[in-house]
Amino acid sequence: MARHYDYLAIGAGSGGIASANRAAIRGAKSAVIEAKAVGGTCVNVGCVPKKVMWYGAHIAEAIKYSEAYGFDLQQNGFNWKTLVNNREAYIERIHGGYKRGFESNGVEFIEGFARFVDANTVEVDGEHITADHITIAVGGRATIPDCEGAEYGIDSDGFFALEERPNKAVVVGAGYIAVEIAGVLHALGSDSHLLVRRDRPLRHFDEDITEALLERLALDGPTLHTNTNVAKVVKDDNGLLQIHTQSGEILEDVDCLVWAIGREPATDKINLEAAGVEVDPVGFIRTDKYQNTNVKGIYAVGDITGEAQLTPVAIKAGRLLAERLFNPELGDVHMDYTQIPTIVFSHPPIGTVGLTEVEAVAKYGDGNVTVYNSKFAAMYNAVTPHRALSTFKLICTGPDEKVVGIHGIGEGMDEILQGFAVAMKMGATKADFDATVALHPTSAEEFVTLR
Ligand code: NDP
Repeated sequence: MARHYDYLAIGAGSGGIASANRAAIRGAKSAVIEAKAVGGTCVNVGCVPKKVMWYGAHIAEAIKYSEAYGFDLQQNGFNWKTLVNNREAYIERIHGGYKRGFESNGVEFIEGFARFVDANTVEVDGEHITADHITIAVGGRATIPDCEGAEYGIDSDGFFALEERPNKAVVVGAGYIAVEIAGVLHALGSDSHLLVRRDRPLRHFDEDITEALLERLALDGPTLHTNTNVAKVVKDDNGLLQIHTQSGEILEDVDCLVWAIGREPATDKINLEAAGVEVDPVGFIRTDKYQNTNVKGIYAVGDITGEAQLTPVAIKAGRLLAERLFNPELGDVHMDYTQIPTIVFSHPPIGTVGLTEVEAVAKYGDGNVTVYNSKFAAMYNAVTPHRALSTFKLICTGPDEKVVGIHGIGEGMDEILQGFAVAMKMGATKADFDATVALHPTSAEEFVTLR
């Protein structure tokens, strides 16, 4: 007899774990299958280790500012291995927390790689496991370009596996991952280069924010190379890399090349055909708003859906799916994919929720959009010779100036945005922002004092 569950999640990443736990809490016999480490991309090779590295970078910056604050420090070095070891020990503790969570919720954790046998059955290490409801939450992996010598580069997983700080690093790509990794490497002391194929990174963010990012990159680094495409990568006699660009430039003596040009779905090996689950031309499993795939009883959550590839989105979608399936009293619940706040852990961080100015004008018309901007020196660095500016921006629409976009780049933006995202979700207007008493002295107060 095959093991049978009410609910089975394939992939113990953010979405799979959250949905399996919630299903069990609601009384379902629930299990989650994972071939690698529990926690998936976010915990093992994504958000968590990235944020630890970013905090390390943050401390490096604080040391730089410390002189202006009166400190006379002697820095004897920076030990990459110590940071990595402490990071990995922290991740181990998170693994333990997940396992304890499974135990207390009654979720079975099954180690192994799952392949579909039919719409209700998967096979793991030769064993058939059946379930009434199966959620595919297998996530994605980095895209590697098809150029000569591409194999000499690593992806973000490889970045987290680095045992030493690179001397000279080249990061190729223009999204979150490229900006974050290039920034961390630079702050921690590598000669770091960010190669983007067009005129700027983060092209889809609000233009004032990317302009401000460009200013900060020009002021602080990493070195930005715009309109730069890699033609080929060559390993020299010393084992170092030469990055040849299509315009003939050669970046030499590179000991770390990171490809960060996007991520692709990991749907190709789980035998989806056997279950009849359809994928789009790239391989993403597109779902309706209830996370339903084209096959009844099979769902998809998280990066595999190609929709807002963010941990909290996968978690929320997974939990709401489990509620819908096993807590019918809640009714017609589903994930709302609008107004999703997100942070890029650049230096300083970028926060954004809602529409950019360009998107707002396209949606509401030029005359129906009001924009408020502030450029200011955050006190944190204003007292140092390093007087870099922060940029905050509100996008409003209609006569009542409903806030439809909030964007910022500056110290603390990563912690500032969440509360303002709540206000926006509740339908706040500019007058509501103005009516709120400022917290002084903070950067956040700029959002309630914009003129
Ligand atoms: P993204 O899809 O965000 O960005 C990759 C970018 O690289 C593309 O937009 C493109 O930008 C550029 N690019 C694509 N192909 C090439 C190429 N052949 N050569 C050079 N550049 C290329 O991917 P990421 O890998 O950065 O991140 C994946 C997802 O992970 C993100 O969408 C995000 O949702 C999530 N994530 C979130 C984080 C957070 O919340 N802080 C952190 C990290 C990841 P262009 O067209 O402008 O050249």
